[in-house]
Amino acid sequence: TTRIALQARPKGEPADSDFRIEQAELGQPGEDQALLQTLFLSLDPYMRGRMSDAPSYAAPVQIGQTMVGATVSRVLESPGGQFAPGDVVLGYGGWQSHSVEPVSYLRKVDTGTAPVSTALGVLGMPGFTAYAGLLQIGKPQPGETVVVAAASGPVGSAVGQIAKLRGARAVAIAGGQAKVDYCREIGFDAAVDHRSENFRDDLAAATPDGIDVYFENVGGAVWDAVLPRLNTYARVPLCGLVSVYNATSLPEGPDRSGVLMGTILRKSLTVRGFIQTEFVADHFADFQREMSGWVSSGQMKYREDVVDGLDNTPEAFRGLLAGRNFGKLVVKVSE
Ligand code: NDP
Repeated sequence: TTRIALQARPKGEPADSDFRIEQAELGQPGEDQALLQTLFLSLDPYMRGRMSDAPSYAAPVQIGQTMVGATVSRVLESPGGQFAPGDVVLGYGGWQSHSVEPVSYLRKVDTGTAPVSTALGVLGMPGFTAYAGLLQIGKPQPGETVVVAAASGPVGSAVGQIAKLRGARAVAIAGGQAKVDYCREIGFDAAVDHRSENFRDDLAAATPDGIDVYFENVGGAVWDAVLPRLNTYARVPLCGLVSVYNATSLPEGPDRSGVLMGTILRKSLTVRGFIQTEFVADHFADFQREMSGWVSSGQMKYREDVVDGLDNTPEAFRGLLAGRNFGKLVVKVSE
């Protein structure tokens, strides 16, 4: 296999020298394993956490290990006969061209409904994150205002469209005009650019009745602008904080935790962090049924940003944390 291993723990933005591209032997698959060829590798913000040894909900990748990641792959060999050669499966092969994985980790991908890469996006983990976080924690009601940032990405775009399907008003926050235009095209009622000088005023104009649900993907300056617009009893599913994943220190300035806690208290806010895995057992089957229905009927739009070639993975990953991706970022590893 050609693989990308973690060479050093990044300080700030991951550098090329934090990774090592190399050839490695995989060994023969056993009876309960399969040999796979990677077709698509998913790049997701959580991978920045795996590169670090700071405390997290999951163990870090060790130095010298292959970087982890979800993959859509073609079965080359399945000695135990659980899969047929040529089957397309969702697995966790990591940043490499081939993998040997336990068959218990693999799920056959339906090649009929949508492109197989969607198993990594709208029909996979990011889509489920939006579905579970919004419906289980955000609980949008008809007529309420739902706001989400990173709104053109796989999580944010699904949050907005599910909010609309539930009868809420959906407002997008995205970086740059092209992403703002795209969010309006896929059905957001309003979209504002967090990079604009007028961001705060634009957000206020887009949320005349305040904000009932803020699905938090980014933190930082966007959160600072959202906080004063939250209504009493607003819900904040705290999904991610991508604006600080490369941070090496706390921001300068006065301690504002008193303002934050005071606002949570006065407005009776519910701020609830979550990792999508906690909802899988109870809600993944409903998600698969509903989401594939919405995708087939055209009610759920999605966009993919496909980068060609495993070699380009580190640069594509840096772009993801800086907003240079436009849609669900996947690497096309082989045909
Ligand atoms: P995206 O494809 O949306 O990529 C991240 C986006 O974040 C960028 O494109 C950029 O969009 C935006 N961004 C980056 N830096 C900043 C910044 N400083 N301020 C504002 N926006 C910024 O990613 P995903 O949809 O895959 O993930 C979205 C979030 O969901 C992440 O925080 C991720 O960690 C989290 N997540 C959490 C899960 C959980 O179980 N809790 C599971 C899956 C994802 P733009 O250019 O529009 O600003």
